Amino acid sequence: MWQTGSVTDFPFKNNVPDPLLSGKELPTFKFALEQSRGKVMGGSFGKEATVEQLPISKGIAGVSMRLEPGVTRELHWHATAAEWAFVLEGRVRTTVVDPFGGSEINEFEPGDIWYFPRGHAHSLACLGDKPCHFILIFDNGYFSEFGTFSITDWLGHASKKLLAKNFGQPASTFDGFPAEEAYFVRGQVPPQDANPIQGALSLPPETHKFRLLAQEPHSIHKFGREWRVGANRFPISQTITGVILDLDPGGLRELHWHPNADEWQYVIDGEFSVTLFGSHGRYRIETLAKGDVAYIPQGYGHSIENIGSKAGRMLIGLNTGTYQAIDLSQWIASVPASVLADHFGKPQVVFETFPKERAFISPPDGQGQRNIK
Ligand code: MN
Ligand code: MN
Repeated sequence: MWQTGSVTDFPFKNNVPDPLLSGKELPTFKFALEQSRGKVMGGSFGKEATVEQLPISKGIAGVSMRLEPGVTRELHWHATAAEWAFVLEGRVRTTVVDPFGGSEINEFEPGDIWYFPRGHAHSLACLGDKPCHFILIFDNGYFSEFGTFSITDWLGHASKKLLAKNFGQPASTFDGFPAEEAYFVRGQVPPQDANPIQGALSLPPETHKFRLLAQEPHSIHKFGREWRVGANRFPISQTITGVILDLDPGGLRELHWHPNADEWQYVIDGEFSVTLFGSHGRYRIETLAKGDVAYIPQGYGHSIENIGSKAGRMLIGLNTGTYQAIDLSQWIASVPASVLADHFGKPQVVFETFPKERAFISPPDGQGQRNIK
């Protein structure tokens, strides 16, 4: 046991103990996001997981948002977080303006992602006659989607005189403007052509859109596959790496950790067992179903296993633009068998049949072919 207050007090990052993570037991790291109520307007909703709903999730917050046809998540910005999104259903049109005068209007389909750096102004409109549903990830667990800076809120609190001067209009122009934040704006289904007031836009140097599932998976295994994108292929996404992980029944994303990032998980489909290792004998298991989220603190060991009877799909966000991971099979493979024999009190020969390379996704019985590509 380490003595509290001694110089060997390892659990304390920067010598400041995080009360939530320095106890004898690990706290829950799961939240049933889709079972929460959130903010509702008719058939549109926003449900969030911040440190309030999931106290462990200090580095990342997430939102599930559904918009009915004709509804727009109003023009706004976030003072304390960048926004990353994955479209699950329907079509979305975004507008975004950056601080350098660049602006973009993009359309998204299922499998596409967007990234808005912190402070970039944006709006999200449902396109067409079907609702849309997307998952938002923010690189700050203290960030609340319901605490954003919205255009109706601002204009509703500035004087008409000030607005008249600002926009070169008579003050009466602003009669009847909303006095409070609209948040969800109801309107007509947006026209096919999106023509901004200024005419042609000056495009930003880096696009805010990436078609993640339109790409080939970056790795394919016998019992699963993974799409992954960070700043390498989606340069604007400096603070988020996004992953879609498919696991077939029994497939296991092996024991690993991320040296440089926290991890946020959302179950798109299927049933998973997620294990968390927190050092000092602390170990916790959560079972996740469709619509649940989970959070893995930076550096904590974890694994993800499909325990259902059908294919499972998980959305994963890491709060870094540069993916890093150490997988246990690769760690074991990189040290001499004699070292392992001494650690575990077993003959060397036991370790000679361990994988010679990273497993990444292991098959149900742990045997046989693992990697296809
Ligand atoms: Mn936003
Ligand atoms: Mn991971």
